[in-house]
Amino acid sequence: MDNYIVSARKYRPSTFQSVVGQKSLTVTLKNAIAKHKLAHAYLFCGPRGVGKTSCARIFAKTINCLTPASDGEACNECESCRAFNEQRSYNIHELDAASNNSVDDIRSLTDQVRIPPALGKYKVFIIDEVHMLSTQAFNAFLKTLEEPPRHALFILATTEKHKVLPTILSRCQIYDFSRISIADMVEHLEYVSLQESVIAEPEALNVIAQKADGGMRDALSIFDQVVSFTNGNITYQAVIDNLNVLDYEYYFRLTDAILSGNVRSAVLILDDILSKGFDGQHIITGLASHFRDLLVCKDASTLVLFEVGASIRERYKETAIRCIDSFLFKAIELANGCDLNYRISRNKRLLTELLLIQLCQINQPQAEESKKKLLIEPVGESSPAVPATSTAPVTPLPQAGQAPPKKVSQGPISTSIKKAIEKEPEKQLQPASATNEESADFEQSELTGYWDEYAQRIEKNAYLKGAMVNCKPVLQENYTFEVAVHNPGQQEELLNESINLLPFLRANLKNSHIQMRIRISETNEKKLAYTSTEKYEHLMNINPVLNKLREEFNLTPD
Ligand SMILES: [Zn+2]
Repeated sequence: MDNYIVSARKYRPSTFQSVVGQKSLTVTLKNAIAKHKLAHAYLFCGPRGVGKTSCARIFAKTINCLTPASDGEACNECESCRAFNEQRSYNIHELDAASNNSVDDIRSLTDQVRIPPALGKYKVFIIDEVHMLSTQAFNAFLKTLEEPPRHALFILATTEKHKVLPTILSRCQIYDFSRISIADMVEHLEYVSLQESVIAEPEALNVIAQKADGGMRDALSIFDQVVSFTNGNITYQAVIDNLNVLDYEYYFRLTDAILSGNVRSAVLILDDILSKGFDGQHIITGLASHFRDLLVCKDASTLVLFEVGASIRERYKETAIRCIDSFLFKAIELANGCDLNYRISRNKRLLTELLLIQLCQINQPQAEESKKKLLIEPVGESSPAVPATSTAPVTPLPQAGQAPPKKVSQGPISTSIKKAIEKEPEKQLQPASATNEESADFEQSELTGYWDEYAQRIEKNAYLKGAMVNCKPVLQENYTFEVAVHNPGQQEELLNESINLLPFLRANLKNSHIQMRIRISETNEKKLAYTSTEKYEHLMNINPVLNKLREEFNLTPD
């Protein structure tokens, strides 16, 4: 390549139209110019590489253009425009406050302010990273900003708005530049590829855009880097190999393992990723983003927040269908919590493995986290969330709380986790008594009858008894019944009891397919206690000991 110019410079926008990803902002600026409603000072805020300085330069050029085009853009042909484009205009002065932040620096700039322009209408002063000015420099500048001559216009740019003095902020019109969306960046990279005769897979450009994290300048410099090591043939594989990006394939595999509650498989996938040299925190935040993407791609209203490339969108949607919202909420929360603890953790690998174990437990009925709806599976059926793509065998999970990190931390981690898992008896919710399957039909009244009978037999657990007396089963489809409980405590009691309760009901109703769904009744949460029975019931929910007292003293609630 002769006369090689880095893409970030070569493709620097020269009109508002060509600024990537800041449409509404550039339209506003163009309108202000067209209507001659210019302020004396502007503050451009936003992350690095999103077009602040480019916009400031285009703005300076446009307001000085002698023959502006009808669409509000600079003509790029008049003497003033040519002077700007050839970087010899006297109407633009730039100061990088990051390296020139003294009083003298600002004075030499403000000295220029008084001299009117020789050509064009305005002298534009751009101060980059304005928050870096020293306090004295700030004060010296403030005087000029308070009483500027008519021909002077200031554009201050900063990545850290909160560090700019309020006295400056109050004198500026503020424009907030946003991070550039992945789609906008990919589109621009496609344009650049075309201009440079580079062949690029869309997915590869998507990875570059993600890596650039919202900054077009960074995206273009990564692009240049990739072009050079791929000889102008940018493939997805080449990009992830060379940019040390974790292939999304791993996140899909992890999600499959998690959905099927397969801790072993998840821990092995993690080991595979770590062995490729990826950092644990990278995996954790990547997984959190993955769950987040699955969440936003589920609903049309949040689809605008979904920034993955077109070619794998279907894959996301297909996986998202298998994830209920509450699972994704919890998964994101767990991953985020793990991310926060990562730095202070002394055993980072274990922490990451623990996250995977916790994630695997979300979808399991015996998980401690109370969910609004739980499904107890009948004997002999496997988990409903087994993905077709998962190659590893599906194994039941250790019960929540039975494999605490304390146990695991003795000895080498990866093997000790395996041991912890293996040591755990593979406990089924129901004894495997369903060798001869029964599927007799039964009535709601029969169900309620046996339910009540069971409740009456309970002697020690008054809380559970109360829950069963107050919350009745309602028969629904496919031998499934639903119990609407009043609070998570009742839900948990009932869930624990299901180990005995379900076999009892199945045996008596001669149907081995009976399932129980427990949900917390929504209306009850808002209901106020009115009658004394209800007040009593409410108090008992808070403190089950009350019931014991009542029984001991043979009292009635009324
Ligand atoms: Zn012009």
